[in-house]
Amino acid sequence: MDSRQQNIKKIPGIKNVVAVASNKGGVGKSTIATNLAISLKRLDNKVGILDADITGPNIPRMLGIPSGSLAGEGQGLRTVEAHGVKAVSLGLVLPPDTPVVWRGPMIASGLKQMVFDVDWGDLDYLIIDLPPGTSDVSMTLAQDVMLSGIVIATTPQEVSLEDARKAVAMFDKLGVSIFGIIENMSSEIFGEGGGENAADDLGLDFLGSIPLEKELRIGSDKGVPLTAINIEHPVSIKFLEIAKKIDQRCVIVNEQSASLQTRDLT
Ligand code: ADP
Repeated sequence: MDSRQQNIKKIPGIKNVVAVASNKGGVGKSTIATNLAISLKRLDNKVGILDADITGPNIPRMLGIPSGSLAGEGQGLRTVEAHGVKAVSLGLVLPPDTPVVWRGPMIASGLKQMVFDVDWGDLDYLIIDLPPGTSDVSMTLAQDVMLSGIVIATTPQEVSLEDARKAVAMFDKLGVSIFGIIENMSSEIFGEGGGENAADDLGLDFLGSIPLEKELRIGSDKGVPLTAINIEHPVSIKFLEIAKKIDQRCVIVNEQSASLQTRDLT
């Protein structure tokens, strides 16, 4: 085993762990993580979502769970279900508008608690919304948690693509498999095709593009994700197509690891 992978542990009861990363904030990573989780649920999977953006947790709002809703219980973190998806976020235990002012080591141990100490139950998928950047969270996750793969979110502009390439390089270095790139906010304003070209350049799969869509933004702000309330919407259909691709990739990953285990036993 590679030395950097020695500490890696599987999360009990969880079949596939897929993290959504970007190297820039505001490109729609949390929106993609949320709508992808709901789309995987539509494909009959049991799904959870972990808000690993510890200093800027947005998942409760996007799923319509009041922030701080577990604060009064005083029992720490547990999953809260919304739109059929089990969510965990620090935003659930912190009173609204409370900042998280943690240094690196605390962030790393907080993340590990959210991953390993929460009772997630049996899940087909855990989607992890990473913070932007090559942060402690991404490093800790890649070094401590068995990940099926990473999905990179980017907008089509060069400034975002440049950062996306850095994220790709970082996960490559950490030995984590990258499922591909999703282009978000494709439009006349931001451009189109940049994500696909970057995927080509980097030898990665292009998983699809999500257009700039007002209803998607409104759904995220209101806590009623578009994929949960309007499955016929073209953007919901695009998310479902991307979810199917991720589902297929995970089947391959699982077949490969099963055949490796069989080989090791014989
Ligand atoms: P990040 O997690 O990368 O910081 P968010 O998912 O929080 O980004 O998205 C930033 C803002 O952009 C949010 O208000 C969100 O609703 C909006 N947004 C994301 N993707 C789209 C899109 N395709 N069309 C319209 N608005 C979007």
